[in-house]
Amino acid sequence: MARPAIDLAALELHELVSFVESLGYRPFHAKQVYRWIWKRGVSDFAQMTDLSRELRAALVESATVSVADVVAHDTSVDGTQKFVLRLADGKHIESVFIPDTPAQTFCVSTQVGCAMACAFCLTGKMGLVRNLSAAEITSQVRLLAGSLELLDKSFNIVLMGMGEPLHNYDATMKALRMLNEKEGLALHPKRITLSTVGLVPMMDKLAQEPLMPNLAVSLHAATEETRATIVPLNKKYSMQDVVDACKRFPLKKRSRIMFEYVMLAGINDSPQDARRLVKVLAGVKAKVNLLPLNEAPGIPFERPSDESINTFAKILADRGMAVSVRKSRGRDIRAACGQLIVEGQSGRKPAVQKAGAEP
Ligand code: SF4
Repeated sequence: MARPAIDLAALELHELVSFVESLGYRPFHAKQVYRWIWKRGVSDFAQMTDLSRELRAALVESATVSVADVVAHDTSVDGTQKFVLRLADGKHIESVFIPDTPAQTFCVSTQVGCAMACAFCLTGKMGLVRNLSAAEITSQVRLLAGSLELLDKSFNIVLMGMGEPLHNYDATMKALRMLNEKEGLALHPKRITLSTVGLVPMMDKLAQEPLMPNLAVSLHAATEETRATIVPLNKKYSMQDVVDACKRFPLKKRSRIMFEYVMLAGINDSPQDARRLVKVLAGVKAKVNLLPLNEAPGIPFERPSDESINTFAKILADRGMAVSVRKSRGRDIRAACGQLIVEGQSGRKPAVQKAGAEP
């Protein structure tokens, strides 16, 4: 019986070298194949024209290069683009392109759904459907970079799409190694930001990794009580546990940990909260990113007034805290932070249809 075709887009370079050697070829042939897949976005072996005819035939026989299947693509009035991708098992994920200049940013998913159940997040309402493989995580980058003609340009990646990256640790780390490979996209870790809601043991594990992305931590509150009501994980790892893990986290000179703070009217947006937040983060090289809530049906919170947001930001800034207020992108196409959801994967009616399909 024929062996199932191996997906070369799921392999790190050293794994691809072993595979190519098993076919009787040399490591440099593996590098050629890796470059075709990652640098040139080619998945058809027939187009890998600097490989010998024999090697191409051997690859056609035994291998494949998986490509994400785009089932919906929307562009926001602000230029943000949302891609809905169908995976091999029919599950859907979302990836978002944010075209800020000079940095272009891809927001990438690491899981289908999410187990963390943050109270303000639509993805959290889905629950965890399953983890993504490293190939599925990186296929989003290959797809966006290829279709937006950015394969040879610099771009940033934020692991802030669907899912909690540290809850899918091994696949996320493998994906980072594949993206960093110099024969491929050679993406420097400082161009990648990993966002966690505070899985403390995994933050400590990440601190030991040779490839260290920027760290963003979803804090969202300035007291344990408030945080526990909006981030259920706080019952397992308290806000203080998370802040202590941040203090242990090794940072390069001039780098800081980004603390994400979703602003919810009447919940965590008072001047008193702002003053408490400064105390909570004392001793951490921090910058705070305030995220006024993206309101959505089914989310039982409201966005604070601009006045409350500005007052909050000013209190932090006046006390020497680096602070930014995130401009929301892609709200009209539900591509904004906390709005990523593909319905129909948790017992709901499907909301995503193949492009061109009948409604
Ligand atoms: S905010 Fe992030 S960690 Fe929380 S439920 Fe949503 S996707 Fe998961």
